[in-house]
Amino acid sequence: MATLANISQELPTPKQDEIKVRNFIGGQWYEPSSNNFFDNFNPSTGKVLCQIPDSGAADVDLAVKAAKDAFPAWSSLTPHQRAAHIYKLADLVEKNLSTMATFESLDQGKTLTMATNIDISRTAINFRFFADLVIGDLTSVSVTGAYPKAYPGPDGKPAFGQALSYVNRTPVGVAGLISPWNLPLYLLTWKIAPCIATGNTCVCKPSEFTSVTAMMLTKLIKQAGIPDGVVNMVFGLGATAGNALVTHPDVPLVSFTGGTATGKAIASATAPMFKHTSLELGGKNPALIFADSNLDECIPSIARSSFLNQGEICLCNSRIYVQKPIFDEFVSRFKEFVITKVTPGDPFSPASYYGPLVSKPHFEKVQSYVQLAREEGCNVEFCVDRALNTNVLDVSENGALALEGLEGGYFMSPTVITNVSQKSRLVQEEIFGPVVCILPFETEEEGIQLANDIQYGLAATVWSVDQSRLRRVASQIQAGNLWCNCWMVRHLEMPFGGFKASGLGTEGGRYSIDFFTKKQAIYLG
Ligand code: NAD
Repeated sequence: MATLANISQELPTPKQDEIKVRNFIGGQWYEPSSNNFFDNFNPSTGKVLCQIPDSGAADVDLAVKAAKDAFPAWSSLTPHQRAAHIYKLADLVEKNLSTMATFESLDQGKTLTMATNIDISRTAINFRFFADLVIGDLTSVSVTGAYPKAYPGPDGKPAFGQALSYVNRTPVGVAGLISPWNLPLYLLTWKIAPCIATGNTCVCKPSEFTSVTAMMLTKLIKQAGIPDGVVNMVFGLGATAGNALVTHPDVPLVSFTGGTATGKAIASATAPMFKHTSLELGGKNPALIFADSNLDECIPSIARSSFLNQGEICLCNSRIYVQKPIFDEFVSRFKEFVITKVTPGDPFSPASYYGPLVSKPHFEKVQSYVQLAREEGCNVEFCVDRALNTNVLDVSENGALALEGLEGGYFMSPTVITNVSQKSRLVQEEIFGPVVCILPFETEEEGIQLANDIQYGLAATVWSVDQSRLRRVASQIQAGNLWCNCWMVRHLEMPFGGFKASGLGTEGGRYSIDFFTKKQAIYLG
């Protein structure tokens, strides 16, 4: 079996200066004004990978000023001129794909395959997609409007006549962009791309757990010739750097992706300041599997949606409801599939389906849910076969894996929990790890009711061969993204957003462009 040590010899070697993280403000790199840094760890080994600036309000203030200064010139470029810069950046990301994927994997724990084929590839796609979309989309929409009947004014002449009416869509100003650690560069650039393509400038605050590829991006931004100050990056903690950014008076737009509790705190800070705020938050996504489902297709897809990226994707399934007649068959075939196909391990080994969890606190949090399952008397199954996966030295009672050569890493077994109550915190709270709960349901109505019986509404998956049932059920589930007989098929033009506590606002295609522009109705009489 390949190991981190021997695989990395074939990969671009991480150089310390490449992962030296510094704030990027007005096109220059700066130490934080506090001069303080904190450690960032490689989740595969638990050893320090690099240090992150502990930035605060003074750094944010400097970055906002740089973004504000850059706004007039950047916003007055044509969409084509801005797109030319953005295409260069996309080309540079592709040129550096392998190095960036290596660092994304080292920093986050995701497999190199996932970082290469999904995260960093999608980063380049994000830039091209929004640059393309903005060309031709920012032109004004004109209509000639009039009241149906001219209404006479006090002088007897018509007070309202015909007017050429058009929508003037303009960038807003400086945006604060805040991103989480699970898809670090992918989600950050999903915000930067529409933000700058529409003529705004920005200050970004990437997650403190995964700042390395954002730092690498700053070098490519410079290389691409994007004018200084258009994109600024301030690294640090949420409570300090993040809070200073979202409450800054010169930041009228806030786009946030992260946890629901943080989203709530940000919403209450930005609402009194009337900031335009978009929140993409947590999920606890159900899969409804009806008795007529094609299990040969469903089981591999559900395994993928449960364990991809260690279960650390907001769209992963974590509540699996199976109709009673096939419940036992599903559970046993699902576990068998997971044991034989879902191999946790060294993220640099092509044999690994997923890697370590992102950080020690998160690793401990996920294990605490397994402990809770034991306390509640649930059936807990760790789906790791020691004979098949010879790297596994030990599985702890809460599912932590000790792997040969990577003993300090934050690895967890794929974990399947049954005999669990719908009311349990295991079913109601986001675990965000390789842990799934499987529960039975009887009727279609009950399945829908259980799927909706939660504060979240981000995504759901429905499996059945009955097309009319799929349409009926999909429209009744309270979630922003519904997959029927598939998962994670995603078109970037489609709206993306959560219902209920999963978010506020919509991203994707023209919805992102809408968020990053203000619309002014102009009537020329
Ligand atoms: P988090 O909320 O802890 O942190 C997200 C970001 O917010 C980080 O950059 C953090 O530093 C910053 N932050 C924290 N407190 C802040 C504050 N008071 N003011 C401003 N910024 C602050 O989330 P996380 O643990 O990094 O990410 C995991 C969560 O993100 C999960 O809940 C997951 O479901 C969610 N997520 C949602 C989507 C989506 O599209 N809906 C996508 C990915 C992840």
